[in-house]
Amino acid sequence: MVVGDASLDIDTLVIGAGPGGYVAAIRAAQLGQKVLIVDKSELGGVCLNRGCIPSKALIAAAHQFESAKHADAFGISVENVKVDFAKTQEFKNGVVKKMTSGVSGLLKGNKVEVFNGECMFINENEARVFNDHESPRYRFKNCIIATGSRPIELKPFPFGGRILSSTEALNLPEVPKSLIVIGGGYIGAELGQMYSKFGSKVTIIEGLDSVLAGFDKDMTSLVTKNMKKTGIEIITGAKAESAEQNDKEVTVKYSVNGETKEVTADYLLVTVGRRPNTDGELGLDLIGMDLDERGFVKVDHQGRTSIPHIFAIGDIVSGLALAHKASYEGKVAAEVISGMPSVVDYKCIPAVVFTDPECSSVGYTEAQAKEKGHKVKAGKFPYAGNGRSVSLNHPEGFVKIVAEEGTGLILGAQIVGLEASNLIAELGLAIEMGATLEDVALTIHAHPTLGEIVMEAAELVMGHPIHIISR
Ligand SMILES: Cc1cc2nc3c(=O)[nH]c(=O)nc-3n(C[C@H](O)[C@H](O)[C@H](O)COP(=O)(O)OP(=O)(O)OC[C@H]3O[C@@H](n4cnc5c(N)ncnc54)[C@H](O)[C@@H]3O)c2cc1C
Repeated sequence: MVVGDASLDIDTLVIGAGPGGYVAAIRAAQLGQKVLIVDKSELGGVCLNRGCIPSKALIAAAHQFESAKHADAFGISVENVKVDFAKTQEFKNGVVKKMTSGVSGLLKGNKVEVFNGECMFINENEARVFNDHESPRYRFKNCIIATGSRPIELKPFPFGGRILSSTEALNLPEVPKSLIVIGGGYIGAELGQMYSKFGSKVTIIEGLDSVLAGFDKDMTSLVTKNMKKTGIEIITGAKAESAEQNDKEVTVKYSVNGETKEVTADYLLVTVGRRPNTDGELGLDLIGMDLDERGFVKVDHQGRTSIPHIFAIGDIVSGLALAHKASYEGKVAAEVISGMPSVVDYKCIPAVVFTDPECSSVGYTEAQAKEKGHKVKAGKFPYAGNGRSVSLNHPEGFVKIVAEEGTGLILGAQIVGLEASNLIAELGLAIEMGATLEDVALTIHAHPTLGEIVMEAAELVMGHPIHIISR
């Protein structure tokens, strides 16, 4: 591929092929750039290989298992429901393979050049990419860094053996009989509940006073109620202190209310956050890029770093570490490089947790809107008032809409319940479009659908819901 050590010229170098990088590469190519994307690992990044997609495949399988066991409410009895977890893993791996080969096809179809190797900056305009066979050197006009993040490893809980990061937790060969989870954030809550549904005895140790602490209590209480139904023990206000493992089990010591206690299980999953991949061999220090004190790359509202022709997107930039944020920033950076006046606007970026029930949020919560000085009116329409959710036997949950008093401008929404992950999109669009409660209330929603809950929540905040008595 390379003759001698001359640099190959490209317009845009994208480093990292996760949901930030591959989306940026495709968008830049659509806009006429000659793009090279490099990744030291698999196409699709954490999201497709070790994050969103495999976790959701396993969560979907756990739901299937639970639904089969509890179909009696529908008059269906299923006997001998069993899990063949090796097959579940095969299903999950198949999903990952389909999605990653899809990315490969998309890159090819958009004429993006792909190179598998680790990238290191030589200077502000050149980088070298290494793999076992070659180490070409590229000169770029612009660069988008999208190197993502990795799990934070705590000193008392080094990964290895029975102490797992989310990556190993997604690849267990069998359902563990018992599992301890340190950290009740969204990854811990999702994976803990998934294994609990498959039959593991799960204990969650959380330092704050609730799991999923970023969401309102009236939402998380529904999640913890369901967690307790499958036997999850949630220990809040607790500090995990140490772990000891042997070839059969792991014991964690933790302190709660001044007392030291311990719990033993087959495995320990530690999910206490993620660290940006901005250190190491990449060479950001060599080119003098500005990072903040936590190692995130400092960028402006267009994703531009302290080196004007180099952009940074996704998990290496502060804010929510979510795939759709990475992709969104990737599109903005690609457009800016191509001469468009794009800027990021996080006003309606959704946050979703795939627990049972699902939680989602977009825009402001009621408390945030008040803090920002808005006069607010808000209300919750319950799933129990909706024909579709009752006929699906999932009547728990609500849609809450937060709007500005007087104008009815929608400022935010929170949903807990079946398909909260999908329903939030309509309210994100409403905020993006500057829609009011009346706009949503006047939108005819098909019957019977869960979407009607969104319409009725808007009516409720306006004071005239149909399927609930307005007080
Ligand atoms: C268990 C789990 C579940 C998740 N679930 C969700 C979810 O449901 N929804 C959601 O929105 N988000 C979810 N996330 C978060 C999501 O995966 C990340 O926010 C997203 O992947 C970040 O995208 P990115 O493009 O910034 O980086 P990444 O996906 O981390 O990709 C970075 C890529 O850069 C490559 N790379 C790094 N350094 C170099 C180098 N020097 N040279 C070449 N290549 C390099 C890596 O190999 C990697 O492929 C989940 C994460 C985990 C761990």
